[in-house]
Amino acid sequence: MIMNIGKGIKKLYSFHGGIYPKENKYSADCPIENMPLPKRAVIPVIQNSKEKCKPIVSRGNLVIAGQKITEPLNKISVPSHSPVSGKVIDIHPIFHPLIQKPVDSIIVDSDGKDQKKTSVNIHDDYFRYSPKDLVSVIYEAGITGLGGSCFPAHVKLSPPRDTEIDVVVVNGTECEPYLTGDDQLMQEKAKEIIEGAKIIMYILNAPKCVIAIEDNKPKAIEIIKNIIFHEPNISLAVLKTHFPQGSEKQLIKTLFNKEVPKGQFSHSIGIVVDNAATCYAVCRAVKAGESLISRVITVSGKGIKTPKNINVRLGTPLKDIAAFCGGTNPGFAHAVMGGPMSGVIQSSLDVPVVKGTLGVIFLTKDEMIKRKYSDCFRCGRCIRACPAKLFPNQLSIFIENNRIQESVEFNPSECIECGCCSYVCPANRPIFQQIKTVKNKLEALI
Ligand code: SF4
Ligand code: SF4
Repeated sequence: MIMNIGKGIKKLYSFHGGIYPKENKYSADCPIENMPLPKRAVIPVIQNSKEKCKPIVSRGNLVIAGQKITEPLNKISVPSHSPVSGKVIDIHPIFHPLIQKPVDSIIVDSDGKDQKKTSVNIHDDYFRYSPKDLVSVIYEAGITGLGGSCFPAHVKLSPPRDTEIDVVVVNGTECEPYLTGDDQLMQEKAKEIIEGAKIIMYILNAPKCVIAIEDNKPKAIEIIKNIIFHEPNISLAVLKTHFPQGSEKQLIKTLFNKEVPKGQFSHSIGIVVDNAATCYAVCRAVKAGESLISRVITVSGKGIKTPKNINVRLGTPLKDIAAFCGGTNPGFAHAVMGGPMSGVIQSSLDVPVVKGTLGVIFLTKDEMIKRKYSDCFRCGRCIRACPAKLFPNQLSIFIENNRIQESVEFNPSECIECGCCSYVCPANRPIFQQIKTVKNKLEALI
């Protein structure tokens, strides 16, 4: 279904492969609850593996919430801010839940007062400011893509000069099973999300915006549909639920039947995609002067007593979140940060929420894919399911036999880390994990 037809897109398409896993959205329609402040917040100085930042506070410094505590060292990094007021008690390496290795982290003990930095940086009438000024506000607020990519928002909003952006896409698909935080945010903060999208359109001089939502979110669809009714340049595309439709390239294929050229960004074909939560953060940064110190996440899985959608300060340890949701159930096996398809299994609940945390899924043994695997018997299911049109079976065999150079010829860097191959494999081969390991090794060499 397309609303405001003719103002945005006229027809919907589909993408290669993908799967239709059981949704298990246990926290659907649970109102967003504000989690209490953490007693101790842990902020890794980098939020994704490509960032380079240094701490600008030292042990013993007093800080307030929203105060900048790291400074970027390259153009594809953003600053981070203290999520609480209190005292920096140490800076030392902790295990990063998404990068999966120790990263220098700033440890702040909260004083419980939640003193916040009052911003002078409020741009309520944003259209009076230049796009460059607004990009600078978004950069200073430390905003990264909140759909899991953690890609700095200011970089996406600064395409090369002379690049014409035809359309901004607000990604409200949230196609991973279990995850419901974006759905709930769209239900409760639709106006701010649309306002954020308008700011992005203004910055990019984009004439159109399409909000894409999967059809398993009827309440969010209804709310957004009503708000955009009088918006001539914003349309709503309701998509059939299909994983991994929320992945940028697959979403663009579904909406516009266009392929993003290999190795290029979507702006090269005139499209910029931003997650609904990112649009919300952009709105709060520009119109309220707020830095990114909290985010909405899903807490779900049969391993947690009360699944919820929560607004949580960055740096909060997963063990505090488990306690806030009533504790874990008998049979709880592992927490996964992100969705169960493409998320990262955590070996400890001491790790903190970071900007790229979409959710924390507490899985029981029954919910986890069995790990005992056998040889590939060349059924071809993984090839048919791979949205990136790769040969996951071939990659898996090469990687298993440590033939990394030969695996490179099968383009592991094009893998979008969706996990579809592992999901469909009847031999239970850990294909996705194998490819991810090789991708990380290859990226480290660049
Ligand atoms: S190879 Fe990568 S892109 Fe293809 S199905 Fe597996 S995880 Fe997804
Ligand atoms: S799905 Fe599994 S068994 Fe089938 S071809 Fe792929 S790797 Fe081999």
